[in-house]
Amino acid sequence: MTTTADLGLYGEIQKFGATDMTACFSCGNCTAICPLSENDATFPRRMIRYAQVGMKDALLSSKELWSCYHCGECSESCPTDADPGELMAAARRYAIASYDRTGIARNMYLRPMLGTVFAILLAAFFALFMYTAHGPQSSESLAIFTFIPEELIHNTGIVVMVLVVIAGLAGVANMARRIGRREGVGWRTVFGGRAALARSGRALWSSLGRESLGQMRYRVECESERESVAWYRRRWFIHAVTLWGFLGLLLATGLDYGLALVGIKATGTPVPIWYPVRLLGTVAGIMLVYGTTMMIINRVRAADRSVARSAPADWTLLVLLWITGVTGFGLELALYLPGVPAWGYWVFLFHVAVAMELVLLAPFMKLAHAVYRPVALFFVALADPSNPARATGPQG
Ligand code: SF4
Ligand code: SF4
Repeated sequence: MTTTADLGLYGEIQKFGATDMTACFSCGNCTAICPLSENDATFPRRMIRYAQVGMKDALLSSKELWSCYHCGECSESCPTDADPGELMAAARRYAIASYDRTGIARNMYLRPMLGTVFAILLAAFFALFMYTAHGPQSSESLAIFTFIPEELIHNTGIVVMVLVVIAGLAGVANMARRIGRREGVGWRTVFGGRAALARSGRALWSSLGRESLGQMRYRVECESERESVAWYRRRWFIHAVTLWGFLGLLLATGLDYGLALVGIKATGTPVPIWYPVRLLGTVAGIMLVYGTTMMIINRVRAADRSVARSAPADWTLLVLLWITGVTGFGLELALYLPGVPAWGYWVFLFHVAVAMELVLLAPFMKLAHAVYRPVALFFVALADPSNPARATGPQG
């Protein structure tokens, strides 16, 4: 197989936030310190090498790129300040932009001012679009769906979800095709027979259950040095509650819609705090607001090496998640306060507009890692020696 060097790769990854990779002289300190390198004596140095010599295809087809949780331990130990942890983060931003064929992700990452203006205009568009169909603001009860028709919100939400699924699947297919070709994993490896299905099932559980939802390696390996930090301030916990909160809110929204479809409860009807869907939404909202607030504080304070440098893309995602969580609570407060606060209607409109924007932009910004990482970890688990009859294939 011929490997073509892309001499512009190094400069490209630097645009996405990497520091001076020429400083790396392959001493191996980062590999020695990285908690994830126990079975791979070249991780993460191999990624640095790919970037240095222009091995673009090898970089974009590396499942290992997504194993890294950006703990920053390698950067702390690097004698030349080449910042390998930040290189890995920049390479993942570059990968997200490369998997997306529309060019939107690339522009969001490389033109942060344009991306910010675009994000503001998109939220304004959603708000104005829904406001054009607005009805009266009842002063007897906070009738949010009299103000903005429920049907309009649901139909707009369905269109947004369809667009996101199309854009997301295109990017994931691009990524999976690259990794699969390199690893020698095809449809038959994954689905061809009972043994393959059993192996794939175990890999799926490992990537989605243990690693993504359970944050296993982040929790056990990347945080092993941080036992002095209170559990509620540990990075894995903050990351986990943010993820769980986001997923919980998506689930609560879907269930609320489902209950309305089957005629059990109309959307937006006030229900007691213990009502399961409301309870789920409340707990998930608390998690999301806590997680994003802690992340913002840690980034503002540059609390450790992993957040010493923040790219504009980091802020965009955090701010959108935080606004979605806080306005969701504002809406809940308005729904259950005595009297009818007029501001509740505007918080509702703002909340819906930002939530739709967040979902629509997901495939084009850092949030995309919530899908790309489990896919890559699925390939990692397929090749794991502890997974019987593991998939093996050519390594670049
Ligand atoms: S520790 Fe620094 S200089 Fe050494 S291999 Fe890693 S990135 Fe290169
Ligand atoms: S940031 Fe952490 S997980 Fe990532 S390569 Fe460095 S030491 Fe390993």
